[in-house]
Amino acid sequence: MTPIARPVTVTRFAPSPTGLLHLGHAYSAMLAHDAARKVGGRFLLRIEDIDAGRCREEFVAAIEEDLAWLGLEWERPVRRQSEHMADYRAALDRLEAMGLLYPCFLSRKELDAALSAPHFQAMQGPEGPVVVDADRLLPAAERQARLAAGEPYALRLRMAAALERAGPLTWADETHGVQTADPAAFGDVVLARKDTPTSYHLSVTVDDALQGVSLVVRGEDLFQATHVHRLLQALLDLPTPRYRHHGLLTDPEGRRYAKRDRALTLRALREAGRTPGDVRAMVGL
Ligand code: GLU
Repeated sequence: MTPIARPVTVTRFAPSPTGLLHLGHAYSAMLAHDAARKVGGRFLLRIEDIDAGRCREEFVAAIEEDLAWLGLEWERPVRRQSEHMADYRAALDRLEAMGLLYPCFLSRKELDAALSAPHFQAMQGPEGPVVVDADRLLPAAERQARLAAGEPYALRLRMAAALERAGPLTWADETHGVQTADPAAFGDVVLARKDTPTSYHLSVTVDDALQGVSLVVRGEDLFQATHVHRLLQALLDLPTPRYRHHGLLTDPEGRRYAKRDRALTLRALREAGRTPGDVRAMVGL
């Protein structure tokens, strides 16, 4: 009898190289690493560097150095999002062919100003005021003129049409149980930014699928984003991983660790003579 092949668990840690890793990152990376190792699965590192203005090469090197010091092992080559713009373009092309994208020339500031006009009563979503049909804020002739002049624009997802096409969606969340995806509060979410031809939501969703990630372990701060990711998976025919949104570590005053907490970067802890075992103990693993 052929034994039934058990699906391999694939997890990842996906930092943006915009600063040194701190205790909160160590916690997230170790949780993802341990979740895979415990069941003989695979652990990946992905560098989320689509934001050329904020990402720095020295932080990519520091991330690998810190994770190796912690004793984590990951597969190579490491995927770097900046090298895979063609994959994100292909996903945008599919959404465009479904008529679900539109160009938006207005900056966040211009949109905020337009939406704060009394007759709009814009609702607040997870990413600020909910933007719907932003293209209609500009007269058609002006949109055409800006397009013809080669002005940069963002690509937004027409949320109402996307929801109609996708129908009801759920995901399995190991922390919160089965969740119903309800991304409407994001409004017409930006999928390609003006300054970079993709976005966090699009590239993370495409990459998790292309890399065969089966369990996404990440902080509770990204829980809301999963509503959007689940919708994109449905629209792009991508598989849905399981999710584990972990609690965020806080300092003794109850504040979240952030890149500004110099003393709690892994580098500073290492230089102060702490061991990887100390770090595990500090984060309670
Ligand atoms: N790159 C994101 C960050 O640094 C995390 C992406 C994810 O885990 O989905 O916060």
